[in-house]
Amino acid sequence: MSGSLELSSSIGKHYIDGEFVSSRSGRTFAAINPATEAVTTQVARGDADDIAAAVAAAKEAFTGGEWSRANPSFRRKVLFKAADLIEARSAEMIRLQTLEMGGPLGPEFSGPHPIMARSAWNLRFFAEEQEQAGDHAFNRDDTLLTYTMSDAAGVFGLITPWNGPIMLSTWKMAPCLAYGNSAVHKPSELSSLSIAVLCEIFAEAGMPKGVYNTVLGYGKEAGIPLVEHEDVIGVSFTGSPATAKDIAGRASQSLKRTSFELGGKSANIIFADADLKKAVPAAAMGIFMNSGQVCVAGSRILVQKAIYDDFLEQFQKAASAWQPGDPMTRGTRLGPLVSKAQYERVTGYLDLARTEGRILFGGKRPDGLEKGYFVEPTAIVDVEPTARVCQEEIFGPVATIIPFEDVEHALAIANDSTYGLAGYIWTESQSTAHYVSHRLQTGMIWINSGFDRDLRQPFGGMKMSGLGREGGGLSREFFTETRFASFPLISRGSAPAR
Ligand code: NAD
Repeated sequence: MSGSLELSSSIGKHYIDGEFVSSRSGRTFAAINPATEAVTTQVARGDADDIAAAVAAAKEAFTGGEWSRANPSFRRKVLFKAADLIEARSAEMIRLQTLEMGGPLGPEFSGPHPIMARSAWNLRFFAEEQEQAGDHAFNRDDTLLTYTMSDAAGVFGLITPWNGPIMLSTWKMAPCLAYGNSAVHKPSELSSLSIAVLCEIFAEAGMPKGVYNTVLGYGKEAGIPLVEHEDVIGVSFTGSPATAKDIAGRASQSLKRTSFELGGKSANIIFADADLKKAVPAAAMGIFMNSGQVCVAGSRILVQKAIYDDFLEQFQKAASAWQPGDPMTRGTRLGPLVSKAQYERVTGYLDLARTEGRILFGGKRPDGLEKGYFVEPTAIVDVEPTARVCQEEIFGPVATIIPFEDVEHALAIANDSTYGLAGYIWTESQSTAHYVSHRLQTGMIWINSGFDRDLRQPFGGMKMSGLGREGGGLSREFFTETRFASFPLISRGSAPAR
């Protein structure tokens, strides 16, 4: 299985104040290739000392004002250049991402890889947003004029997961940096390689040193000190609800602002009148893409009884297009899970599925792939909607398929969840789609389509799936300090003194 890449000396290092550095303690940990289980390289293992250095650099950069008080047009120019460089280095970055977390390279693309194009779009979108967005002015009875100012707020902690390292990191960095803040980013310990290229890109694009910093390492050793640091004014976090609760508790001690994008157990509701030619492949992609390690995965597929048997047959056929294999081989669609722990977690749920329901297909390590954290695409049927496999986020290529009678029954099953991230509705009836959209307790709903983004969408979840929304002006609210200034006016009735 392929997996060796020449790694530059910046990979696996922290990026602090414009320099790639080892940990102050000298400690490292191993980055494991999930497709082969081999050690790829050693990675700097950050702790409170490295966080302190990074926050100090970020604070100094913020106070200096070269970025925080720069003209929006300057920040736009730098971020546009960074976006161009992401596209230019797309092939290198996607290979590093495959090496660190196992997401397949996919087919050959004529331009940049779609994930890199999306990452570049994140930067361009917020570079423009910060330049175009205006503040407000209010005139009270011609006696008081007030105007608002949305300014860079300070040093933010950005904490990200491993399942979309570059896309999810740029989704946070873009608004944070575009509005003039400084950042200390703590990527997941399971995806510590590709981030170095982004650091190089920011430097080459002309971002002043200290504005963006990365500290690698574990959540408990580097994440906690970042959350608790007194000079960090806010934390934007994407990851699991359990970690979010811990962060919320610590951040509240210093009244830091927080934004949480968390997990899901999203329902994909397929009505009898749906166009199955579109719904079936989309349902398969919705749970098998990235080996199901997607926050918005449609992991609970709800199918109306009249078409249930037909759907199962077609879904199994569609799943056969998701053969596991070497993620570095062009055309492989299903790579390994990210780590041994994730493999054990997913296979644990497969054991549970055998007692809670029935495995229709898949359910084990694929034949011929003895090494690597591979699991077959799997469907679980004949299972109660309240079963653990239907309620808990498995984060693997594992769908539960549940029949329903009518609209109200579908809604009752869909909403019986502690999560509320995404929902998918397949029907030819606009009124059914509209009714269900209103009643579905999720932050995001896609009708007759898979996961598709417009960066103005308010991205985020309800219940245990998150707190706050990211996207467009909502990111602006989180990443800026909004203030006002006001002054008296002479009323229209009285002529000004000349
Ligand atoms: P995780 O919560 O274990 O880790 C996420 C990040 O938090 C990592 O960088 C980790 O090192 C750090 N961390 C861990 N403990 C910490 C602590 N106490 N303080 C500070 N930082 C800490 O999540 P994960 O396993 O990396 O990611 C998978 C989860 O992320 C899933 O639940 C998935 O649904 C969710 N996710 C959500 C979205 C979204 O936008 N809603 C997107 C992707 C992933």
